[in-house]
Amino acid sequence: MGIEMTKEDVVSELEAVSVAVSPAEKYREYLATQRLRMTREREIFVEEVFASHEHFDADQLIQRLEQRKDGKRVSRSTIYRHLKQLEEAGLIRKVARQGDRDLYEHDYGYPQHDHLICKKCEELFEFHNEKISELLEEVAREHGFRIEGHRLEAFGLCDKCCRRPNTRPNKMNLI
Ligand SMILES: [Zn+2]
Ligand SMILES: [Zn+2]
Repeated sequence: MGIEMTKEDVVSELEAVSVAVSPAEKYREYLATQRLRMTREREIFVEEVFASHEHFDADQLIQRLEQRKDGKRVSRSTIYRHLKQLEEAGLIRKVARQGDRDLYEHDYGYPQHDHLICKKCEELFEFHNEKISELLEEVAREHGFRIEGHRLEAFGLCDKCCRRPNTRPNKMNLI
């Protein structure tokens, strides 16, 4: 913790769901299926990723890892490889792309939710609405489809950005 609040901080009232198996344990199980070992480096990595439920990108994670006393410098390509493995293990997932960077969030130990994404300040608002799941179930039934999960991302302007006055001087006022 003790991480500075950034504009990427999620606005959410969702509570983490309790899970029987820890993220590290789930990661270990996945690695075993890939004939890979849980190294100390991977252990630190998964620990840091699950230290807080903030949406994060690779750069933010690199920063956090470098701030750790037990962390050592790892190459960017290693970070990306670890992230991909966590994604394949079902622990994290990509959220909408903002600019040219990928944002990640926990996909394990966190309830199903959707996002409202402000295009201007890039703030993410998490919400859960049972009606969306019900509607999707209905659509899926019509197609004989079995849903395992879904993601919905709506883009637009948040309340603050809608209201923010235009900062450019208004010519009319200068006359
Ligand atoms: Zn906004
Ligand atoms: Zn989220």
